[in-house]
Amino acid sequence: MRYISTRGGSPAVGFVEAVLAGLAPDGGLYVPEAWPQFSIEEIAAFAGRPYAEVAAAVLGRFAGDEIAADDLGRMCREAYAAFDHPAVVPLVQLGPDVFLAELFHGPSLAFKDVAMQLLARLSDHVLERAGRTQTILCATSGDTGGAAVEAFRGRANTRIVAMFPDGRISEVQRRFMTTAAEDNVRCLAVAGDFDACQAILKTALADSQLQKAVGLSAVNSINFARIVAQSVYYFTTAVALGAPHRSVAFAVPSGNFGDGFAGYVAHRMGLPVSRILIATNANDILARTFATGTYARGVVAETQSPAMDIQSASNFERLFFEATGRDGAATAAAFTGFAAGRDIVTPPEALAAMKALFTGASTDEAGTAAEMRLTLAETGQTADPHTAVALSALRRTPGPGPTVVLATAHPAKFPEAVQAATGQPPVTPVRARSLAERPERFERIGADAGKVAAYVRAFAGG
Ligand SMILES: *Cc1c(COP(=O)(O)O)cnc(C)c1O
Repeated sequence: MRYISTRGGSPAVGFVEAVLAGLAPDGGLYVPEAWPQFSIEEIAAFAGRPYAEVAAAVLGRFAGDEIAADDLGRMCREAYAAFDHPAVVPLVQLGPDVFLAELFHGPSLAFKDVAMQLLARLSDHVLERAGRTQTILCATSGDTGGAAVEAFRGRANTRIVAMFPDGRISEVQRRFMTTAAEDNVRCLAVAGDFDACQAILKTALADSQLQKAVGLSAVNSINFARIVAQSVYYFTTAVALGAPHRSVAFAVPSGNFGDGFAGYVAHRMGLPVSRILIATNANDILARTFATGTYARGVVAETQSPAMDIQSASNFERLFFEATGRDGAATAAAFTGFAAGRDIVTPPEALAAMKALFTGASTDEAGTAAEMRLTLAETGQTADPHTAVALSALRRTPGPGPTVVLATAHPAKFPEAVQAATGQPPVTPVRARSLAERPERFERIGADAGKVAAYVRAFAGG
């Protein structure tokens, strides 16, 4: 399987290179040259199989012969053994046609573990074979850093430096990074906000000398392996509800549109999906786009669902490419224009193609809190604020038929918001209980790209 850029200006590459590279050289995102297919019989045969086996089957279609089937199977088994539920992604029924897919049973209690646990093993494996090492620099406003540190700690061929805005993330989020004792992990508390951390990351990634010297790499959600790993739970949950013999709908708390696009991937591979409801908080760029066709940045608002406080959804570029009939030139023009401050007007046929599968809905802060209260009162389940955004969207625009709501974070990750909305503190899972006692290790650093680059060089050299 070869991978091409959404902007049509880069040579096709293999799976390994697409995974290690992140962005294509022309600034586009990698997508497979053709979507691999599963037959109805193959999808039906996923029923009752262990999660890791389905993951290996799906990933195998994208990796082709670049990764041996035995290695892939072992990496999937190891990645999902790190989850504290034997089903990995269990389904909980909330109503006659509403099911929660609990994606938060991984080490950092957020859905990003599902892809990151696999990506860490996959990239370490290909680095080992190539005799290379990498240094991951990560800027986090909360969940990505914890999932990345949990996944990469102790890996032989990867160093990871996690930057977070000093004093601006929750204690639970910070401790998921700072309590890692392994030598290949460093945490930097940056004197600045998340934008300052991201600006430092962008400067570092654009520094080709630094890139070469330390094998600099990033783990953001544009990585295609992360998307594929996320498409797996669309298959397992839909099959548990009767697919492929009936269609299933999904409701997805969305920010960067990685999870939403993973649903599209499953659909393109043959899974009958009736609808994907893209649920946003007040940062509603995707909901507006699916309603009007115009993709226009808004002002980022801080909400109680911070992992979705995004007003440009990177993975929308992949959907735009597909919906325009894979028009690389049009995609390049649209997204370079967007980066330069212009809106994107989706052509009518492309918008119709998007709307055939996607619809959007946004929920404000009061609605999110009200949904947490209602869900608890009606079902006895405590939803985190991100999941509540999707539950609220579904309540207003139900169906059609059985719908899987992706529960993207454990409520214990956002105790203040849950307590404020429901009057009850969430129960902390066993694996997070020792977090408060483990010693922390991090260094404070100025919001200065030069200082961070020097730090990364010293770490990688030593
Ligand atoms: C990252 C994240 C999201 C948003 O996912 P995208 O793939 O960026 O759309 C939603 N909920 C939680 C808890 C997250 O950590």
